[in-house]
Amino acid sequence: MRILVTGGAGFIGGHLTERLLKMGHEAVVIDNLSTGSLNNLARVQSNPALEFIQEDIVTMTDMGDIVRNVDMIFHLAAAVGVELVVNDPVRTITTNVHGTEQVLKAAAEHDKRIVVASTSEVYGKSTKKTFSETDDLLIGCPNHSRWSYACSKLLDEFYVMAFYRAQKLKGTVVRFFNTVGPRQTGQYGMVVPRFVEQALNNEDLSVYGDGTQSRCFCHVFDTVRALIGLIDCPESYGKIYNIGSHNKISIQGLAELVIAQLGSSSGIKKVPYDQAYEAGFEDMLHRAPNTRAVRDLLNWKAEFALEEIIHDVAAGIKSGNT
Ligand code: UDP
Repeated sequence: MRILVTGGAGFIGGHLTERLLKMGHEAVVIDNLSTGSLNNLARVQSNPALEFIQEDIVTMTDMGDIVRNVDMIFHLAAAVGVELVVNDPVRTITTNVHGTEQVLKAAAEHDKRIVVASTSEVYGKSTKKTFSETDDLLIGCPNHSRWSYACSKLLDEFYVMAFYRAQKLKGTVVRFFNTVGPRQTGQYGMVVPRFVEQALNNEDLSVYGDGTQSRCFCHVFDTVRALIGLIDCPESYGKIYNIGSHNKISIQGLAELVIAQLGSSSGIKKVPYDQAYEAGFEDMLHRAPNTRAVRDLLNWKAEFALEEIIHDVAAGIKSGNT
């Protein structure tokens, strides 16, 4: 197949593109390289089955032509990371809303299969033990920039459902839960590469808040395997799937594990949220997926243990993340 990956030079997009090429598909990548990097495609850059287009999904004028000439689309281009979202809220909304609108319109017009990346952020401040796709969502008020990410992604999800109902769009939404792995950069705030980098440099690990907040970290290889399963999957049209692991750990626990596993002499420093992000910042306390839907659909479950993830992230950083 000839497969379009928007955001294909991003962290998840790069791993997905590599995998698609390895499977013998052709890949067309659109990326504006704002948070993505050609480094994420370095291993496949000379592969003739890869076409790279450096454009912005919001402003590009040839989206229709590109979509017409592919068999399916993975739409991963988005404003990424809580830190960036807080620092650049206008760009977040523009990219996630108008960019996605362009891609979806083209997919609907040309009747192309599309898988759209969303996020567990949409569960907002819900305090449920695990989050299911049909749950009500509890997003904070617009005074806090953070929630613009959840809200804009949620609008993307409504868009997919609307196109599915109105025009039978072959669309599926995936909600990623804390995806991590080699080549993810700590530059945009993501905690695992941050902690691993700090531990390797024997610097104190920066735990935000009191560290009791918890997350479930999923290896990007597991995430990509789920995406591959969705390529040819008509049962998933018009549906939403959580993609995440059950490696639940508190952020304090994560810091301790990273230090111990890497044999680092780092300590841990607590950083108040308003220093780390912005005044009044609201974090999600716990975030764990219910993954029954994707398991029933694809017989998929995350397989990598947290220790393996930390190992792979550290190995990536040590090798210069190539
Ligand atoms: N975090 C932290 N130190 C850091 C970066 C992040 O303690 O240097 C915390 C962050 O406040 C959140 C958790 O780690 O509670 C996960 O953050 P990340 O940005 O990786 O993902 P999120 O779950 O916020 O989307």
